[in-house]
Amino acid sequence: MKATMEKLVNLCKGRGIIFPGSEIYGGMGNTWDYGPVGVEIKNNLKRAWWKRFVQESDNSFGVDAAILMNSRVWEASGHTTSFTDPKMDCKNCKTRHRADNLIEMHSKGAVNPDTMTNEEMEKYIKDNHVCCPKCGKSDFTPIRTFNLMFETSRGVTEEGQNKIYLRPETAQGEFVNFLNVQRSSRAKVPFGIAQIGKAFRNEITPGNFIFRTIEFEQMEHQWFCKEGTDVAFYEDFKKKAYDFLLDLGFNAEHLRFKDHDKLAHYAKCACDIQYLFPIGWSELNGIHNRTNYDLSRHSEFSGKAMEYLDPVTNEKYVPYVVEYSIGADRLMLATLTEAYDEETLENGEIRVVMHFHPAVAAYKAAVLPLQKAQGEKARQVYKLLSKSFMCTYDEAGSIGKRYRRQDEIGTPFCITIDFDTLNDETVTIRDRDSMQQIRLPISELTSYISSKIAF
Ligand code: ATP
Repeated sequence: MKATMEKLVNLCKGRGIIFPGSEIYGGMGNTWDYGPVGVEIKNNLKRAWWKRFVQESDNSFGVDAAILMNSRVWEASGHTTSFTDPKMDCKNCKTRHRADNLIEMHSKGAVNPDTMTNEEMEKYIKDNHVCCPKCGKSDFTPIRTFNLMFETSRGVTEEGQNKIYLRPETAQGEFVNFLNVQRSSRAKVPFGIAQIGKAFRNEITPGNFIFRTIEFEQMEHQWFCKEGTDVAFYEDFKKKAYDFLLDLGFNAEHLRFKDHDKLAHYAKCACDIQYLFPIGWSELNGIHNRTNYDLSRHSEFSGKAMEYLDPVTNEKYVPYVVEYSIGADRLMLATLTEAYDEETLENGEIRVVMHFHPAVAAYKAAVLPLQKAQGEKARQVYKLLSKSFMCTYDEAGSIGKRYRRQDEIGTPFCITIDFDTLNDETVTIRDRDSMQQIRLPISELTSYISSKIAF
């Protein structure tokens, strides 16, 4: 794997994929803005996920719930009391750390802090002289638990203000709409509810580019099923989540499953799929068997019975939930890492190329007139292709330079319009990966490209 975080950040900035947030004001730590190329790639990833888990699913339905929810939702879900991380400050350089991360880093993964209490973590850090990664001193404050939810308030007058939260996950929007979706869609258990949307977490240690940010997008799918069938569906979703990544072009050697050692008290089993990011193996997505905890809690707190009446057996029950959750931005980072390549060409030059799955690439084709004289024809071809896909047009610089620019953003096809095009209505189409060129009539371009970009 050739990508480093530094190379990715530089490429993303230079090529309009991702920019630092609020940059002209000196930035706003750990916020990032997607540029013209990045927004296309991210949208394509979200589209591919939606296609796979909603469109092609037998029985899944989409929702787009409000980010701001009734605060009782977060009491029912347990977030107001237990959505916390163990925070420690370095007394010397005043940087803030997560105790569990310090232990993981110090032991190089040999010690699992997930199974430790706060007291045990403090003792481990003291006994083993775990040092601050910034200043090297081992002098920390005691652990304080820190709630990761962003608070805000609503109401027009000071007195009328009510505390509300920016949602820290999208999942609750699916749970609270269980009855609405089931009834309006006449859905029969087992069925799924999916959502893509923003989530916000006041992370103690955000960073590593878009790996961990305070505002991010999640793609979550809750599968409601009957107790007893949950174990098989859990395995099924592990496979589906893994296959989705393979189909996007991920190398199986860069993916692995990791079971959770410490389960939430309600969870029956949980695992992550980890990816070999430039920072090492880290969580890309999670699959959780959440039992009937979520719906039961919402029944209890809302007073509405979150039950399903089986129309065949007349049995009434609270469904179990298998959750599959993946961050769109984390998937973006994994996709960028996986696609990045540096090839040494015959003339010794280095070609940076992003080998995205064509369905993911921002532009499916770049239209490049060889000379200004072919500009008008090239514009016509661009207009024609733009009716079917996102395309780009470039007439600046040598053709070699223009190819390199497209390689760096992973455009799968470059179409050159040359002198012959004006006479015979054919163009040259260059394949990004093999750099092979073939000649095709303009009239066949749309169907040729369409056949190559399907997901
Ligand atoms: P982590 O252990 O990395 O904090 P988590 O286990 O808290 O993640 P979940 O709550 O299961 O994560 O969230 C589901 C997915 O959302 C994660 O697998 C990840 O892809 C994404 N995600 C979670 N937190 C962030 C974040 N701060 N920034 C970007 N993506 C995130």
